[in-house]
Amino acid sequence: MKLKSLIKKIELKYPLSLAYDWDNVGLLVGDYEMDIKRVLVVLEANEKVIEEAIKNNIDLIITHHPFIFKKINKVNTSDLKGKLIHKLIKNDVALYSMHTNFDIAFDGLNDYFMEIMGFEDTKILDITNIETLYKIVVYVPTTHAENLRKALANAGAGHIGNYSHCTFNCEGIGTFKPLDGSSPFIGVNGQVEKVNEIKIETIVPQNILGGVISSMLKAHPYEEVAYDIYRLENKGQSVGLGRLSKLKQNITLEKLSNNIKEKLKMDYIRIVGNFDNEINKVAVVTGSGADMVKKAKRQGAQVIITGDVKYHDAQDALDIGMNIIDCGHFDTEDIFKDVMKRFLDTIDEIEVIKSNINLNPFKTI
Ligand SMILES: [Zn+2]
Repeated sequence: MKLKSLIKKIELKYPLSLAYDWDNVGLLVGDYEMDIKRVLVVLEANEKVIEEAIKNNIDLIITHHPFIFKKINKVNTSDLKGKLIHKLIKNDVALYSMHTNFDIAFDGLNDYFMEIMGFEDTKILDITNIETLYKIVVYVPTTHAENLRKALANAGAGHIGNYSHCTFNCEGIGTFKPLDGSSPFIGVNGQVEKVNEIKIETIVPQNILGGVISSMLKAHPYEEVAYDIYRLENKGQSVGLGRLSKLKQNITLEKLSNNIKEKLKMDYIRIVGNFDNEINKVAVVTGSGADMVKKAKRQGAQVIITGDVKYHDAQDALDIGMNIIDCGHFDTEDIFKDVMKRFLDTIDEIEVIKSNINLNPFKTI
């Protein structure tokens, strides 16, 4: 499939608009017109990963950590990043990164962590955005209404809670007079035409509004489509970083830490707090979440499970009576390849491979 079609599918589920402003996500290297058959999923791309991709005839590498993050002024082989970009292009390998948008999105990294740990009824720890909703109203000849409704639904319009394909339809008469220079689908130049039309109304979240409008225009038979877009006061879904879950029964900090260690197949885990402290609400922030300790405590969690906890973060947590389970940045995020493969495996035309390169820079003795 074309890279642009694959990206469209990915971004419908994991929109780039969810990413923080400082982030760098999306297609970082590649040609949107490329044909993609084989995809490699991996936490980040270094020279070994790129060699692995070339050896396995990979067309696209998808990483969690942005392959290009800091500003670069030149792309040449005298520095490592330039050399790797050059290598990717020379070998027709595209590279796409999905970072904070994947942390924040539903069914992204944080939700997957909750799922593998069996933490249920999850809530958002830190809301970053509340979806703006729009209403599209479009007028279409009765004969083409079904087709247009399908196109709107396929582009993602009409979702309300657990319902898809939601529209409201009413019949009426549309009138128009084609003027000089027009080539009308119905009617002749200079004469007022009356056509049986359906007014279709549906709801669309902001992040897919552009795509829905272009699908609607493509599926509509008229040269000039009559449609209205209203910004709604109704609020859409909240999205944000980190998750909270109230446990069905209390667990000690020690037992919870051991469960995580086992599920993530970790060698060791660092704990801040007493082993026998009782936990009934957990907060999770994959990657680096030490700055969320206070927020997690305010939301009623007794522990935050995250990575990259520094000495002073640990001391501050103890001061306010908060527990931390530090699983390390790598171990909370290497699961990216599992969740991403599961999502991409739902797309028929591509084959998805998980990288075998161990990217954990730390070893323990
Ligand atoms: Zn990370």
